[in-house]
Amino acid sequence: MTTGKNILVVGGAGFIGSHTTLALSEAGYNVTVYDNFSTGHRDACFDLDVVEGDLSDQPKLTAVLKDKDIACVVHFAALIEAGQSVIDPYAFYENNVAATLALLQAMRAADVGHLVFSSTAAVYGNQDVDMLSEDLPKQPVNPYGHSKLMVETVLQTAVDAYGLTSVALRYFNASGADAKGRTGERHDPETHLIPLLIQAALGQRDHFKIFGTDYDTPDGSCIRDYIHVSDLAAGHVAAVGYVLRRTQPSFEGMNLGTGTGHSVREVVDTVKRVSERDFRVDECPRRAGDPAKLVADSTRAQQALGWHAQHSDLDTIVRDAWHFFRTRNR
Ligand code: UDP
Repeated sequence: MTTGKNILVVGGAGFIGSHTTLALSEAGYNVTVYDNFSTGHRDACFDLDVVEGDLSDQPKLTAVLKDKDIACVVHFAALIEAGQSVIDPYAFYENNVAATLALLQAMRAADVGHLVFSSTAAVYGNQDVDMLSEDLPKQPVNPYGHSKLMVETVLQTAVDAYGLTSVALRYFNASGADAKGRTGERHDPETHLIPLLIQAALGQRDHFKIFGTDYDTPDGSCIRDYIHVSDLAAGHVAAVGYVLRRTQPSFEGMNLGTGTGHSVREVVDTVKRVSERDFRVDECPRRAGDPAKLVADSTRAQQALGWHAQHSDLDTIVRDAWHFFRTRNR
C-alpha cells in the first residue's frame, strides 16, 4: 500500500517518534526522519531516509521540505522533562518554542501547510475535574507545559495568518514499547516512572523513589493516564490523514489518553508483579512541578480521528516495556 505522500518526522529518532515512523511506513507513507541525535538514536531510524540537522536550522529545514516534496510535518523534537524545566526554563523556551518557530517559518517558506504537533497533558496543570477535556482552561504548572502551550497559541494564530492546518496531540503518559521489540524508551538520563522501575527490577538501580505520598489521591501518590506508545503512534497516523483531508485551514488540540488513571504505587506493584522481581521503594518528597492527577477525556480524538487506545491496559504496557528492556540488556 502507498499513499504517495511524503512525511517529514522531526525528532523521529526518539521514543514516540520512532514508533510513529514505523506506523507511518506501515500505513504506506514515505517517511524522512529529521533529527540532530542529541537524544535520539540512529538505530531507531531503521532503514528510513534520514537527514541530520537541528530544529533551529531554518535554511536546512526549508531545503529538506522542498527537496523531499513534503506534504505534512510531524514534529516531536523537544525537551520533555517537566522536572528539569523547573530547573532550567530558558532551555525549554529556546528548544521548544524558539526552535519550533524556525520549523514553522521553514514550512511557510517551502509552502508546507500541514502539521501534527506533539503537545502534552501538562498544558492543563491542576484542575478539579475527574477527566481533562480539551476546552478546560489551560494552566500549566511547569515551564515544559508553558512551552507547549505557547506553540499551540502560535499554531492557532497561524490558521488565519498563513493558512496552516494543524493538530496538537496532547499526550498523557507515553509508555510501553513496540510489541515486536524493534524500538522502545531510551532516555539518558532516565527520569520516567516505568523505565526507572524496570531498571530497579533489573538490579540496575538499588532502589526506586516515590516522589510524593501526600497528594490528595486515594493512596497519596500521583495519578497519571499511561498510554502505550504504539497507541500514540496510531494516533499520529490518524492525525496526519486528518490534517491532509481538511479542506480549510484549522487548528485543534486533541487528547490522546485512555481515560483510566493509575497511581505511582499501582505502577510499582504492577512492575513487581510482571517482572517477578522485588526491589527497595523509598517514599520521598514531592518533585517540583508535578500535578496530582492527569487523566484524559479522549472523546474528541475518538470522534475526529476514529482513534482509540487498544494496547494501553497497564499490564500490556509494563509487559512490552519489560520485554524491550530485558532483550536490550541481554
Ligand atoms: N515518579 C516517581 N518517581 C520517579 C519518577 C517519577 O514517583 O523516580 C512519579 C512522578 O512524580 C509522576 C509519575 O511518576 O507522578 C510519572 O512521572 P514521569 O516522569 O514518568 O512522567 P510525567 O507525568 O512527569 O510526564
